[in-house]
Amino acid sequence: MKKIIVVGAGVAGLSAAVRLQKLGYQVELFEKDSQPGGKMNQIKKDGFTFDVGPTIVMMPDIYQEVFTFAGVNPDDYIPMEKVEPMLKLYFSQEEPLTLSNDLVELTKTLESISEEDAQGYFAFLADIYKRYIIAKDAFINKSFRSVWDFYNPKSLWSGLKLRTFNDAYSSISKFVKDERLRKSLAFQTLYIGVSPYQGPSLYTIIPMIELFYGVYFIKGGMFTLATSLAKLLTELGGTIHYNTPIEEIVIEDKKTTGVKVNGEKISADAVVCGADFPYAMEKLIPDEKKRGKYTDKKIQQMEYSCSCFLLYLGLDKEYAGKNLHSIYFADDFKQNVDDLFELGHLPEDPSFYLYRPSKMDKSLAPENQEGLYVLVPVPELSKYDDWSDEAVAKYRDKVIAKIKNKTDFTDIDQHIISESYYTPDDFKENFNAYNGATFGLKPTLKQSNYYRPHNKFAYAENLYFCGSSTHPGAGVPIVMQSAKLAVEELLKDEE
Ligand SMILES: Cc1cc2nc3c(=O)[nH]c(=O)nc-3n(C[C@H](O)[C@H](O)[C@H](O)COP(=O)(O)OP(=O)(O)OC[C@H]3O[C@@H](n4cnc5c(N)ncnc54)[C@H](O)[C@@H]3O)c2cc1C
Repeated sequence: MKKIIVVGAGVAGLSAAVRLQKLGYQVELFEKDSQPGGKMNQIKKDGFTFDVGPTIVMMPDIYQEVFTFAGVNPDDYIPMEKVEPMLKLYFSQEEPLTLSNDLVELTKTLESISEEDAQGYFAFLADIYKRYIIAKDAFINKSFRSVWDFYNPKSLWSGLKLRTFNDAYSSISKFVKDERLRKSLAFQTLYIGVSPYQGPSLYTIIPMIELFYGVYFIKGGMFTLATSLAKLLTELGGTIHYNTPIEEIVIEDKKTTGVKVNGEKISADAVVCGADFPYAMEKLIPDEKKRGKYTDKKIQQMEYSCSCFLLYLGLDKEYAGKNLHSIYFADDFKQNVDDLFELGHLPEDPSFYLYRPSKMDKSLAPENQEGLYVLVPVPELSKYDDWSDEAVAKYRDKVIAKIKNKTDFTDIDQHIISESYYTPDDFKENFNAYNGATFGLKPTLKQSNYYRPHNKFAYAENLYFCGSSTHPGAGVPIVMQSAKLAVEELLKDEE
């Protein structure tokens, strides 16, 4: 039986490991942390349970498919419930918008703005759906190993039809006039760490995906996906070594022959790496000559997505309201986005996202109390890097003051009984995220599709990559897809 080593128990590494074990390989997975999940980690403190990173479940069929592939019922591992309304958006001056994926409710919301904008909104959805179908077949479900996989008439024609060169905000503005609607369709590019004023317009598929395929909640939170994949892997016969960082991916004569752990080589027939690609290049393949175009200089020069500052607050009271996901836009959203991507400032007036998991699952907070997850997009470390204790304390106070002023948590400062935080430094330190960029390499046109690191490594045999910085990109379902593509590449090499 062939042995495969998987690096990292993030959702990408875990998904690849499950698939490979099911296919009959002997899988050994090595994770530097003490638990699975990577950015999909969990904090348990003072009776409160928080997901560290991802919270919004989109494209549930992709989550379920890996369990079905392994021959088990996904509902036994990741029971899901639809979230309705999906999202509430708050603006500085105007009325909030509640976004429902019930067509009747959505139509009411849109018509309350104007019939013209309702028409524009639906026209936008039709347009982006068409482009999504093209992208799904031509790019998301397809991996690239040779230049001809990309530069062939079919791919080029598909690329043209995607009309992806505009930025998200301008492309949406052609369809709707209301500023809130424009923002509501554009801001989601931040979910993958790219500016709505710069990123390829194709990423406006995200709000369409939320509306058409729903937003879900997994019982216990996102971390349930990580623990369930880890459980499934061991049930299938695979092995996971926690607290065991891989030190090197061993390449000899352009062939990957294993990894180094604690100074010793462990041999394998192939290696699938789910650790962040740019980090893996620099640290796990230290000899530049073995990694082709991915020199240290190139790695440094590539563009990275933004990062996040997070507060996980345990509150000794349960506040009114029932929305699971809420977004509060900065008064000047464009300035906020420029701070992140252009200027490298910690936003003075940040937009922020609130997540209230105990509204869906009471077991996540003590009775009559509630846990509040606060996410503030911030620049990645090459643009801004002062996360000293003093800087964190100052920014934390600013964020709490914003929450007091802008939300119904008006007396939150008097009810915080437990508190933890994550900064870009923590994402770098804990999970080896290059530059602390929470969504990996930025999906610019120059770093997408054929131009994003491939799932099959071009410079050594028997080495495959998955995860946010590889094709097709970031976000839980998309990195699960990257794992599937990496496994398919490995199978192709076996033919
Ligand atoms: C704050 C935040 C919010 C997010 N919100 C959402 C959301 O709502 N919905 C969504 O779909 N996506 C969201 N995302 C994105 C999503 O979480 C990521 O795209 C996804 O979890 C990345 O998974 P991964 O497996 O590629 O990487 P990682 O989770 O980073 O996994 C890499 C793993 O490799 C391990 N590792 C690294 N180096 C080594 C080594 N040398 N040896 C052994 N192990 C090693 C790391 O410890 C880690 O466990 C969010 C991300 C963040 C940070």
